[in-house]
Amino acid sequence: MDIQSLIADRCREIDASGIRRVFELGAKLRDPINLSIGQPDFPVPDIVKRAAIEAIDADRNGYSLTQGIPALRRRVSELLTADLGWPAADESDDVGLFITSGTSGGLLLVFLAILNPGDEVIIPDPWFVVYPHMATLAGARAIPCDTYPDFRMTAERIEPLITDRTRAVLLNSPGNPSGVVLTSEECDAVRRLCDERGVLLITDEIYDEFCYPDARVETPAGPRCPSPARADGAWANTLLVRGFGKTYGCTGWRMGYVAGPRALIEEMAKLQQYTFVCAPTPLQHGCLATFEHDMAPVVEGYARRRDMVMERLGAVTEVAPSGGAFYAFVKIPERLGLSGAAFCDRALEQNILVIPGGVFSGRDTHFRLSYAVAPGRLEQGLDGLAELLSG
Ligand code: PMP
Repeated sequence: MDIQSLIADRCREIDASGIRRVFELGAKLRDPINLSIGQPDFPVPDIVKRAAIEAIDADRNGYSLTQGIPALRRRVSELLTADLGWPAADESDDVGLFITSGTSGGLLLVFLAILNPGDEVIIPDPWFVVYPHMATLAGARAIPCDTYPDFRMTAERIEPLITDRTRAVLLNSPGNPSGVVLTSEECDAVRRLCDERGVLLITDEIYDEFCYPDARVETPAGPRCPSPARADGAWANTLLVRGFGKTYGCTGWRMGYVAGPRALIEEMAKLQQYTFVCAPTPLQHGCLATFEHDMAPVVEGYARRRDMVMERLGAVTEVAPSGGAFYAFVKIPERLGLSGAAFCDRALEQNILVIPGGVFSGRDTHFRLSYAVAPGRLEQGLDGLAELLSG
């Protein structure tokens, strides 16, 4: 049988080779200085591990409600009230929320719920690698919003891209691959633009806890990451997507949540019921314990690594200030005459793994560096990269 003839067009439109090549190279190298990794380098907090193990031992291994276990939904809802001023999801006719299979699960469901073939969703350029492909899966088109050179997806940059096919704008702050954090004013201007033009604002806040003190704003819940969802009535046109994986080092657990307009959330939950069914039940119990654990000391440690990156590489090239996540998107000086791919090959010769900017963008002029590695290794890597960048 000719399997190739059975493969759907949507598979041919998706090319995962760029990032896969880096991971394959990484697997072949002996003890590389790996600055390509998109996940934290600390173990899951013990209290969170124990809660998951206890749930498994207590035979809580069956399906949960599609929306998630009530106790976790309640904690998330309380967080949204404290952090963003949203009404409690269980008591409001306007707000809905449910637990998803990873942040990716939430993103896929919202795309499937709102995009018809030919519709458009505006995404940042550079983008998180899955965004364009999720649009393809939904039969729609991702329209890149050029955010070079400062990687700020502002209302001014978005507005000219809105057409009568635009259904949503996808904002990602702190951003992957840049680490750039928008200000509250910038977030609010994007939300107001979306509201005026009748398009949904999707805010991917998977890195919200990895927002360094200098990028945070004061809120009644303490210093928090700026968010377009933190405005009165934002829940009417904003879909919030967050996750547990990056914050607590449990990316493999596939745990996230979505919150937003109830009518949309209900459609998305219907799709979850017939696809993912529910998020992993024992791990939902594990994530309940995250609310008892403070990650602030870890985030402070990451802020110091961020400072190392900005000081060392900022001295030799252009690096937009990274205020969150654990990435920096570093410009390759033009005088070197190297594409992102060519520069990364040179780095590889020095046993350093970084990812070419072209994997995340329509252009290949930068590279992404992840500082989710031990400070000693990071320092070694920065020395090597600074030397290459100095040419
Ligand atoms: N959004 C962004 C911006 C990300 O960087 C990632 C993970 N790298 C995701 C979403 C997906 O996260 P999850 O593992 O929770 O699906």
